[in-house]
Amino acid sequence: MARARILVLHPALGPLDYRVPPGMEVAPGSIVIVPIGPRQFAGVVWEAERLPTEEIGDNRLRAILAVADAPPIPAPVRRLIEWTADYYLAPPSAVLAMSLRTSAAFEAAPTITEYRATGQVPDRLTPQRAQALERIGARQGLVRELAAIAEVSDAVIRGLVKTGAIEAITVDTQAPYPLPDPGFGPPQLNPAQAAVAGGLRAAVEAAAFQPFLLDGVTGSGKTEVYFEAVAAAIEAGRQTLVLLPEIALTEPFLTRFARRFGCEPVAWHSGLRSSERRRAWRAIASGEALVTVGARSALFLPYPKLGLIVVDEAHETSFKQEEGVHYHARDVAVMRGMFERCPVVLASATPAIETRHQVEVGRYAELKLPGRYGAAELPKIEAIDLIREPPERGRWLAPRLVAAIEETLKRGEQSLLFLNRRGYAPLTLCRHCGHRFQCPNCTAWMVEHRLLHRLSCHHCGHTMPTPSMCPECKSDDTLVACGPGVERIADEVAALWPEARTAIVTSDTLWSPAKAAEFVSRMEHGAIDIVVGTQLVTKGYHFPNLTLVGVVDADLGLDGGDLRASERTFQQIMQVAGRAGRGEKPGTVFIQTHAPEARVMQALVSGDAEAFYAAETEARRHADAPPFGRYAAIIVSSEDKAAAEETARMIGRSAPESAAMHVYGPAPAPLAMLRGRHRFRLLVHAKRGFAVQDAIRDWLGALSWTARVRVAVDVDPYSF
Ligand code: ADP
Ligand code: ZN
Ligand code: ZN
Repeated sequence: MARARILVLHPALGPLDYRVPPGMEVAPGSIVIVPIGPRQFAGVVWEAERLPTEEIGDNRLRAILAVADAPPIPAPVRRLIEWTADYYLAPPSAVLAMSLRTSAAFEAAPTITEYRATGQVPDRLTPQRAQALERIGARQGLVRELAAIAEVSDAVIRGLVKTGAIEAITVDTQAPYPLPDPGFGPPQLNPAQAAVAGGLRAAVEAAAFQPFLLDGVTGSGKTEVYFEAVAAAIEAGRQTLVLLPEIALTEPFLTRFARRFGCEPVAWHSGLRSSERRRAWRAIASGEALVTVGARSALFLPYPKLGLIVVDEAHETSFKQEEGVHYHARDVAVMRGMFERCPVVLASATPAIETRHQVEVGRYAELKLPGRYGAAELPKIEAIDLIREPPERGRWLAPRLVAAIEETLKRGEQSLLFLNRRGYAPLTLCRHCGHRFQCPNCTAWMVEHRLLHRLSCHHCGHTMPTPSMCPECKSDDTLVACGPGVERIADEVAALWPEARTAIVTSDTLWSPAKAAEFVSRMEHGAIDIVVGTQLVTKGYHFPNLTLVGVVDADLGLDGGDLRASERTFQQIMQVAGRAGRGEKPGTVFIQTHAPEARVMQALVSGDAEAFYAAETEARRHADAPPFGRYAAIIVSSEDKAAAEETARMIGRSAPESAAMHVYGPAPAPLAMLRGRHRFRLLVHAKRGFAVQDAIRDWLGALSWTARVRVAVDVDPYSF
C-alpha cells in the first residue's frame, strides 16, 4: 500500500503518515488535504527519512482526501524549513505555516468576493453606519476586513450591503502581474558603482551560492547598484526577493523600483488584504512573480526559481522575529541562498558586527562603495554636551541646536529631530502622592499620547483615556508628564517657531502605505520645514533639502546594559545622520548627550567607524559574546506567576553544565510581565562551535510541565 509522510499545518502536531488512495499522484512537496479527527487540514508531502516519526500500522492509516491545485513546495524550501526548525528549535509545522500563509495554497478558487462603498447613503444612517462608511472611504476588502477597518461588527457591514451603500465585487486573484523591464530606466553608474554592479551581475549569472556584504555609506547608491543584480536575475528569468526591515519602507521602494523597471514589484507583508495575498502567493509559487519585495515573512514563500536575495538595511534588528518561531531573517536569508544556490546581498551602511566578522573570516565577500553619489558629502557630526550646554528649564533642545534649526529655517531648508519615543511622555506620575501609571498587563509605564488623549502601553496595546485625577490620592491637577516623546518635542518646536510647518512621523501617524506616500510627497514639495520622528524616519528616505539632523537623546539606547547597546546606538545615529545633506547642500548633525566621552559618541563625532568596530569586536571576543561565543534564552511564561517560576527553577535544576556551556538563571526576564504573562528567563552561554541546540533539545526534551506554562527558546537572542 502506498503511504506518504505529511507535515500537517497544525501547530501542535508533528509529521503524520497517510494512505495514498489508488489513482492519486503525490510526490514530496505536493500540497494535500488530510483529515485529523473530524476536521480537514492542509499539509505537505515530505521525504519520510527527513522527518522521522513513529510509524503506525497500515490498518490504522487514514487516506489523503485530495491534492491541492497549487504548485508544490520545492525541495530547497523543504530543506530551509527543516534547517530553520532544527536551528531555532521550532516545530517544523510552525515554520511550514510561514510558507503557506494563505488559503491560496489549497483553495484554487480564481476569484474572491470583496466589498466597497458605492457612495449611496442608506435611508437609516445610524451612528455606527456613518462611522463605518466614513472610515472605509474608498477601500475595499472582505466583510471582516472592512469591519476591522471601521471598528464595527460584521453585521453592520452586512446591513450596509443590504441597503446598497456597500456593494459586492468580484476580484480576479489570478490576474497576471506586469513584467519588470530591465532596460526601462538604467542609471549611469559612476566607476565605483559600476565595478560593484559588475561583480553582482556576474554572481547572479553564475547562479552559485555566495553571500555578499554590500557596504557603502548612506547615499552611496547601494539600491541603484543592487538593482543591477535584480536586472541580471530578470534577464536570466529567475526570481528575486528583496527583504526590507519595515512595511513603511515598502511604498517608497515600490515607486523607486517602478522608476527603474517600469512597473512595481509584487509586495508581500502583513498589511495585504486576503485577495492581494492570494494573488501574490499564486504568482510567487508559480514563478510568475519575478521580483517580490517584502517584510521578513516573505522569506519562507515557495519561490520555485530564486536567483537572488537582497536584504536591505541588513543590520536592522527588526529582521529578528521575537514571537512564534524566533528567527533572524538575515541569517535565514543566507541559508536560503545556500539551498537555492544563489547570491545573497546584505546591504548596509552600518553592518552588524556579526556580518563584518563573516567577511573577516572569508565567508562573505565584501563590496564597498566608499563615497556618496555625486556631489553629496557625508554630514559633519557634532556632540552637544547636555551638562555643559543644557536646554532651558522645561525644554529639551539645547541652545546650539535651537540656533541651528533657526538658521536652517531661514535658509528655507528642512530639519529632522530624531527621538526614538512615540507619544508625548514616557511616564505620567502624580506629584502629590507619587503614583505612576503602569500597564496592568506588562512591566511597563503607560505612555501618554496627547494627540489621542490616551495613555497606552507600547507592549500590549492596553490603553485608557488620559485621567484628569490621580486614581490613588484623588487629587486634581497633580499629574505630570515626565520626559519627552516626539509629540512633546513637536510642542516645543511649535512654541519656538509657530510659523514653521511641522510633521510628526511615527508608526502612529504613518500607519499605512498611503500615509507614508503622502509624507514623502509633502517633504519633496517643501510643505514641511521640521520633521520630528522616531526610527521610522531614519532609513530609506532621500530628501535632498534636508540639511540638519538633531538627535534629541543620543543616550536613550545605551541604558540597560544590552550586549549590542553601543553598536545599535552607533548604527541608529549613523542612519539618522545619513538623512542629512543627501543633495547638493551639505548636512550637519547634532547629537545631544550626557556622555560625550563615551566611545560610541567619540566614534560618531570623529567618523572613525573602523576604530569603533575594532574596539567593540575586541570587547565581544573578550566576553566570548557573539560572534565568538553564543547565547540562547529560554523564556518560561505563564499567567500564573508561581507556576512560571516553579517551572523555570525546575528547568534550571536539571541544566547540563560543561566546559562548553553554562546556564545563568532563572531570573525575571527583562520584561518580567508581558501581556498578562509572568516571564522568567534562563540564559545559556556556549562556546562557539558547541552544538547548543542539541544540548537544549536533550535537556528540555526530558522534562515536562503543566499546560499553563509555556517554554520558548530564543536561539541567538537580541533582547537581553
Ligand atoms: P543608499 O541605498 O546607499 O543610501 P541610494 O541608492 O538611495 O543610496 O542613492 C542615493 C541617491 O543617489 C538616490 O537618490 C539615488 O537615486 C541617487 N543615485 C545613486 N547613484 C546614482 C546614479 N548612478 N545615477 C543617478 N542617481 C544615483
Ligand atoms: Zn496622587
Ligand atoms: Zn501592556
